[in-house]
Amino acid sequence: RGEEKAKPDATISINGIERIYQVQSAQVRNEEGKPLGIVAILNDYTDIRNIERMKSSFVAMASHELRTPLTAIKGFVSTLLMDDGFSKDEEREFYMIIDQECDRLTRLINDLLNTARIEAGESLRPNYSKVNFRQLLEKVLMIQKQSTSKHKLVLDAPAELPEIVGDEDKLDQVLTNLLNNSIKYAPNGGTVTLSCKVEGDELLVGVADEGLGIPKEHLAKVFDKFHRVNNDDNRKIYGTGLGLYLVKHLVETVHLGKIWAESEVGKGSTFYFRIPSNLDED
Ligand code: ADP
Repeated sequence: RGEEKAKPDATISINGIERIYQVQSAQVRNEEGKPLGIVAILNDYTDIRNIERMKSSFVAMASHELRTPLTAIKGFVSTLLMDDGFSKDEEREFYMIIDQECDRLTRLINDLLNTARIEAGESLRPNYSKVNFRQLLEKVLMIQKQSTSKHKLVLDAPAELPEIVGDEDKLDQVLTNLLNNSIKYAPNGGTVTLSCKVEGDELLVGVADEGLGIPKEHLAKVFDKFHRVNNDDNRKIYGTGLGLYLVKHLVETVHLGKIWAESEVGKGSTFYFRIPSNLDED
C-alpha cells in the first residue's frame, strides 16, 4: 500500500537517442506501515510527444498555406476593383494569378479532406480507365515546367509506353506532387528528371532532383502524415507534410504499387514508384 505520485517527465538518453518517459511511482509499505521501497512505472511516450509536436507545427503551416493564397486573391481583387485604367493584358494577368491561387487553395483543402477520409478508414474511391501513360508524363512535366525558370525538367522514357489501367487524375496527382517537391526542395535549381521504364508487368517511375536531399533517418518517415524534415535548409520551405502521405496511399492502396525514396544529403533525392500496368487483370 502507498500513495501514488506522478512525477514530471524524465528524459533519458539511450545510446545517444533521447526518449521521454512519464514516471509514476508509489511507495510500498508493509502491514505495519513501514516503507519497503518504491515501485516506478516508466511509460515511454516519445512517439506521442513527437506527434503532438508535429500536429502543432502542422496547424501553423496549414494556417500559413491557407493565408498566402487568400492574401494574394484579396490583393488582386481589390486592385481590380479600384479600376485604375489597367490594360486588358494587365487585367488578364491579375485574373490568371487569382485563378492559380484558387487552385492552390482547392488543392490544400482537398489534401486535408482526403487525409481525413483515409484516417476514417476509407480508401480514396478510384475511377479506373485506360491511361496513356507517356502522354500523362508529358502533360504533367509541361505544366510543372511553367512553374520554374531555375530548373531543367527532362523526361527519360521510351517513346512508346504500354497503355495501362489506372486512375488518371490520381496518377496525375502523384506525379505532380513528386515533381513539385523536387522543384521545391531544390531551391538552388538543377535538373529534375522524370523517368519511366517497363519492367515485366510493371512500370517503374523515378523522379530525381539535385536538391537538399533527405537525411537517412527521415527517408521512410517522409511518407507519414505531417512528417517534415525540419533543419536550417528546409525551415523556410512551406508545406503541410500531407503530400507524400497521400501519394503513398494513391500508389499503394489505389494502384497496388510500392513507393520509396533514395537520397544523399546535399546531392539530391530520387522518389521511385512501381505500379502494375494490368490492374484490371489482377
Ligand atoms: P510538404 O512538402 O508539404 O512538407 P510532403 O509530404 O510532400 O510535405 O513531404 C514531406 C517532407 O519530405 C518534406 O517536408 C521534406 O522535408 C521532405 N521531402 C519531400 N520531397 C523531397 C525532395 N524531393 N527533396 C528533399 N526533401 C523532400
